[in-house]
Amino acid sequence: MRDDFAALAGYHSAQVDVDVRLNTNESPFPPPPSWFADFSRGLAEIAWNRYPERMASGLRRDIGAFHDVDPARVFAANGSNEVLQTLLLAYAGPGRRVVVFEPTYQLHGQIARITGAEVVGGLRRDDFSLDPAAAAAFVRVNQPAVTFLCSPNNPTGLVESPAVLDAILDASTGLVVVDEAYAEFSPWSALARVSDDERLVVVRTFSKTWSMAALRLGYLIGPTWLVARLDKVVLPYHLDAAKQLAGRVALRHVEDMERRVSVLVEERGRVSAALSDLGAEVFTSASNFVLFRTTGHDATVVWQRLVDAGVLVRDCSGWAHLDGCLRVTIGLPAENDRFLAALTDIFGGRHPRRQSPSPPASVGR
Ligand code: PMP
Repeated sequence: MRDDFAALAGYHSAQVDVDVRLNTNESPFPPPPSWFADFSRGLAEIAWNRYPERMASGLRRDIGAFHDVDPARVFAANGSNEVLQTLLLAYAGPGRRVVVFEPTYQLHGQIARITGAEVVGGLRRDDFSLDPAAAAAFVRVNQPAVTFLCSPNNPTGLVESPAVLDAILDASTGLVVVDEAYAEFSPWSALARVSDDERLVVVRTFSKTWSMAALRLGYLIGPTWLVARLDKVVLPYHLDAAKQLAGRVALRHVEDMERRVSVLVEERGRVSAALSDLGAEVFTSASNFVLFRTTGHDATVVWQRLVDAGVLVRDCSGWAHLDGCLRVTIGLPAENDRFLAALTDIFGGRHPRRQSPSPPASVGR
């Protein structure tokens, strides 16, 4: 193995066999039955003995239409993680620097290091927001080949302000990547800023709001010249035919996706309020998860006791700047109830008053 990999720790969330899994920010809802029906019909028409269409042109066309952008601005891969990896293979690597603002999605730094790049971490304020001038100064000093923003940011749930993006774009001579894995929960997107004149890409995924984490499909919208370069870097036929079909079919079910988002937003409000009632320090989230500090209780002990009660959340307490923090994904109302009831027992408090609403029938199980 390469010498520089010796100290590399893997990035894996625990896969523990429990009833209620609220640790990886997936959607708790499956895709709608009409998606399954259309997908199954399409599967029968695939020429299985042939390689898939290499450029995934139909999928790019449909993603382009969904965002009202030229398909030549779309690059798709196996999950947004592979999109990030392809970007970093092309733009990072030995002798180059990559800037991240911690705490943020750990794989940005992890993949960058795997390519051989040096990762430098800029800091946030105590409330996890970024000061535009300080962020720009950090970028100016470090001259990174790639700068990452994540909005809404995982694991804090915080939306970056447009002023931060403007300041970083202004300061940067390299590529700026805005990871918008949770975009459908966010009040604004950097998409409108993407053009052939800006070194900016926006990364999205089908793993969260589209309810398709099992599928592994993500994409970016970027300048046409950048997409053409990525097409040279990525492996041939990297997107299989079933996946191309599944993504295209999903894009015909936008309203179902939007309904799922609104149920989760409502539940997020309920869970956040109940966590506050229990005395936890809750960070305002614009996403499908909530970061909270287990004030007065050891976070890892709380995490283990939640697991013992059949509820898995993410223990972030060992991560830089996140001492005492756990992150809970918003699940089905009944799953959120299980989480809140277990936490109430652990905290030794009263059970939250609120009743969970039933999800609309059209939203799935
Ligand atoms: N970016 C962020 C910010 C994420 O939270 C995640 C999922 N945890 C990803 C990217 C990766 O998503 P995908 O399943 O599309 O690889």
